[in-house]
Amino acid sequence: MNSIKHLIKVCIKNIIINRTYLFITSLVFSAFIATECRGYDGPIFDAMAQLDEKQGFMSAINKVQQAKVSKLALFARSRKYLGENENEILKLREKFPGLIILGAPKYFLLKDDLTSKYINRTIASIQKNNYKFIGEILYTHGDKSHGEQTLPGERYVDPLAPNNLKFFNLLKKIKVPVMTHWEVYNWDRDWPKFSELYTRFPEITFIIPHMAFGHPKQVRLILSKHPNVYMTISKKEQDKKGYSDSNKSMLLGQGFLNKNGKIRSSWLKLIIDYSDRLMFATDAHKTHRWEKYKEIVYNYRHFVTQLPPEVAKRVSYQNAEDLYGVKVE
Ligand SMILES: [Zn+2]
Repeated sequence: MNSIKHLIKVCIKNIIINRTYLFITSLVFSAFIATECRGYDGPIFDAMAQLDEKQGFMSAINKVQQAKVSKLALFARSRKYLGENENEILKLREKFPGLIILGAPKYFLLKDDLTSKYINRTIASIQKNNYKFIGEILYTHGDKSHGEQTLPGERYVDPLAPNNLKFFNLLKKIKVPVMTHWEVYNWDRDWPKFSELYTRFPEITFIIPHMAFGHPKQVRLILSKHPNVYMTISKKEQDKKGYSDSNKSMLLGQGFLNKNGKIRSSWLKLIIDYSDRLMFATDAHKTHRWEKYKEIVYNYRHFVTQLPPEVAKRVSYQNAEDLYGVKVE
């Protein structure tokens, strides 16, 4: 009888010890998860996103709201004709005036130089529609395996072509920032021309999306030489893939993050040094990227904690506030 009592006692004791052990380990684990998952929870200004009919206008905005993004710099994608999707985007701003600020539409059919029609329409629409910036112009854009394939393997508009210079001369008075998309794969051809463009128009602020997919040395050179240039950091967290031409991919700079999710030291120093001109952006554009909207913001909120808090604030929203002249409430 006594031995049975003893056995029961031992069992109960073991159960209590086991439970306590489990309880403590689960507490430690949740504390670990909580610190790992906390991330940056301050305001976020998405400094660049694009939208067309393929994604669905309302579903895109739902994603932005679910990601708790406070402001969205948005422009229409006009693939078939100038101004395509512009009315839908204007209606969207009417519905969400606190969330959306708008830029002039991006037009896909430019080649070699801007057209007079693009220039006239864009300049006129800035005042008419209260645009805060010019949506990205694709100056150099290497073909992507998931995108349109062109005969020369890239879209190209010469930054020093006559109409382009005319456009910037007209913009001198209006002074809205302009997104100039180019990629560093043909650095010797393109850098001298862009440097010349940024030098000729010091009164205009230029935004280079995705840091031109450059190397830290190239990005540092651009930013140090041209105080009128801002950059978005969209798509720079990982190495850039998806070029049709692998030789072009090989010429691009590495992403910020190493395989352990830590910011590489060469990038970390650069982000800190130029924290007053770098902006977070999702560059949501095609459906596949809009689908990942929440994930992009979530991942950003985590890796940005590796930056000093003041730098994180500048990149997350303050630089975009200053550049677009809109405050996050
Ligand atoms: Zn772009």
